[in-house]
Amino acid sequence: MSFLPDTIAALATPVGTSAIAVVRASGPLAAGLVAEVFKESPLPRTARRADYREVRGQLVDDVLFTYFAAPNSFTGEDTLEISCHGNPFITQKILEDLFTRGCRAAEAGEFSKRAFLNGRMDLSQAEAVMDLIHARSERALAAANQQLRGALGRQMETLISQLINILAKTEAYIDFPDEDLPPEDRRVLLREVDRLISATGRLIATSHYGQMLRNGIKTVIFGEPNAGKSSLLNRLVGHERALVCGEPGTTRDYLEECILAGPHALRLIDTAGLNLSPSPLEKRGIEKTLEQAAQADLFLWVIDVTRPLPILPAPVAARLTSANIIAVFNKTDLSPVPQNPLPQNYSAVKISALTGAGLEELQAGIIRLADAFQADTGDELIAINARHAHALEQARSDLDAARRKLQDAVYSELVASDLRSALGAFGLIAGKIDNEQVLDRLFASFCIGK
Ligand code: GDP
Repeated sequence: MSFLPDTIAALATPVGTSAIAVVRASGPLAAGLVAEVFKESPLPRTARRADYREVRGQLVDDVLFTYFAAPNSFTGEDTLEISCHGNPFITQKILEDLFTRGCRAAEAGEFSKRAFLNGRMDLSQAEAVMDLIHARSERALAAANQQLRGALGRQMETLISQLINILAKTEAYIDFPDEDLPPEDRRVLLREVDRLISATGRLIATSHYGQMLRNGIKTVIFGEPNAGKSSLLNRLVGHERALVCGEPGTTRDYLEECILAGPHALRLIDTAGLNLSPSPLEKRGIEKTLEQAAQADLFLWVIDVTRPLPILPAPVAARLTSANIIAVFNKTDLSPVPQNPLPQNYSAVKISALTGAGLEELQAGIIRLADAFQADTGDELIAINARHAHALEQARSDLDAARRKLQDAVYSELVASDLRSALGAFGLIAGKIDNEQVLDRLFASFCIGK
């Protein structure tokens, strides 16, 4: 018995009123639908104008439809895309009609899952489609585009082919137990495993930047009470406000706003003023500030130039390096020269949150620091996600184990076993996953119609 998948259908555009909305159906019924609904024979990749009439013959809308023949479609299946007028009532009627004609409602991420299962893209590319949809900055868009074009997949192919080479050499000795790896060959293998461990480490190092790209660079504005933190936040937000960014649905008792700084998205967090002798009420706020500071990527330290340079709480001071902080001397309209210059070699900018003076310079400073966050992965902008990082950590720990065994001259069979395990972990990134549950979970995080 041959197995035919269902034909799935969903709205591919957001619900709401718009000029155009797109309903998509993918599966074996798609070609038949063209004949049934539009009384035409399906012509691949040709936009056709037609009346959409529901089963009972009632006119629903004047639409444009495009048919894609397998395997040349997003999903790799026969697909029908119907562009209708963007009215939720119309899209609902079309969808209901498609269900009447034998389609079923697509689950979240099901189109992408089919694209992956039909070999149209590897898993990292399917994830890149999601990144592309959610990219909120120039840099996030560039990274998503690179990943969609297979940048990460290609890096993984290189690593996998190097690992297979090492594995083949190791396994060559397993059949001859009497003559286990000679010391010279062990040394060569050790060097090769070392190179692989470093390359894996370089990829893992991009995950933090990946997080910044996907969630925005977490930027904490801190300083003494009344230094001008809120005024600065308002200034920066007024300057250029980004679309929503960051993890949705988290409740916060501090103020958070998203802005763009050049190609970067920033999650700006205004914190309670740091006061070295706080009242009990202030104490709670300061604890929150310290919690935020512990996870921040970037710091803007607002200093009131009319006051002496404050002493920072140790946990905050410990997180600051010249690569992640800008000292923002504020209220320069009142006193142009800071009374106490900074003891450290932090970047410093003089501004007036009141007049707006110095804001361009601050913006440039932020962009300069943010630019440097991008991990060096050669020509391609690669920034892995948490799932990739997890698989790569696993691979690195397997490679470390193989390395130790090579060093200790343990049987090559055991070395090979660790290498095979690393190979499995590498494979997870492009998606050689044979676990249906893992796939379901992964694609369920996508949206309906994707
Ligand atoms: P925060 O407690 O650090 O958030 O400080 P605010 O932003 O609430 O500002 C405290 C006070 O300083 C307010 O009265 C502001 O109007 C004033 N202020 C803030 N920035 C400037 C500035 O650049 N120049 C002057 N003259 N006053 C400022």
